[in-house]
Amino acid sequence: MHIQTYTQEVVNLHTHSYYCGHGFGEVAEYAQQGLQQGLSLLGMSEHCPVPDNRWGTSRMPFSMLKAYKQDCLDAKEAFSGTLEILRGFECDYLPEYRTYFEELKGDCDYLFFGVHDLSLDSDVEYSMFWNALTKEDLFSYTDLYLDAMQSGLFLFGAHPDVFCHSYKAWDAETIACSKAIIECAVANDVALEINGNGMRKNLVQTPEGKRYAYPHHEFWKLAAQYPVKVICNSDAHKPADVNDVMGACLAFAKQCGITYASYQVENSGTSTTLSLLAKES
Ligand SMILES: [Zn+2]
Ligand SMILES: [Zn+2]
Repeated sequence: MHIQTYTQEVVNLHTHSYYCGHGFGEVAEYAQQGLQQGLSLLGMSEHCPVPDNRWGTSRMPFSMLKAYKQDCLDAKEAFSGTLEILRGFECDYLPEYRTYFEELKGDCDYLFFGVHDLSLDSDVEYSMFWNALTKEDLFSYTDLYLDAMQSGLFLFGAHPDVFCHSYKAWDAETIACSKAIIECAVANDVALEINGNGMRKNLVQTPEGKRYAYPHHEFWKLAAQYPVKVICNSDAHKPADVNDVMGACLAFAKQCGITYASYQVENSGTSTTLSLLAKES
């Protein structure tokens, strides 16, 4: 058994290669760039295919699962001793896929989830990015997010504050939803992610001034008041972005009073276990 711990500065677990359907670059290119950009632990996390092929145009086809696994294993071996490489999936959470995600969890290093689509009808997509969200949408999002955290399947939740992209105000509803998400994360020991991809998007004009589309500083200032595990990720969709926003993520956390969790990888020859260690109080 070999146990290695890592601090946030040298880790990115949210990475999409060409396998994901709308990303670019090979796994090996991400590894090479990761090394150059100072990473010691890199997790690949393609948008997960689902059995009914929902979101088929922007997700990995089922037929590529095997090749994705092999590419990650090859890169893990090639970069052994310099860069630890793990294979995961970013799962679009809906309750109907729980059993499927459970199976998948047994054949990869980690799962995390995001909520990008609020439609419960598989023929219709109601994107968090394409629609100006109503208060009802905010509540639907929060319900799905809580359900995912309670499932016990996921190491962390991606961009919990992504609703801020299309819901511009910070009001009583956003505060209530944010508190519900943060409290549920604490209760279920699921970490929350400050997402670097939102920092790459255009700044958003709000009544309170300009801000990132997400992360939203008000959400994370609230989170700083709870014993919740917080991590940050690049959410890279091309190799050059594999760790490009780390400086901004560190500065953002400091501004909000957040201390990042650290990471532990246990290798036992046949299995790899990734876990998160709480910030020191
Ligand atoms: Zn993506
Ligand atoms: Zn992602």
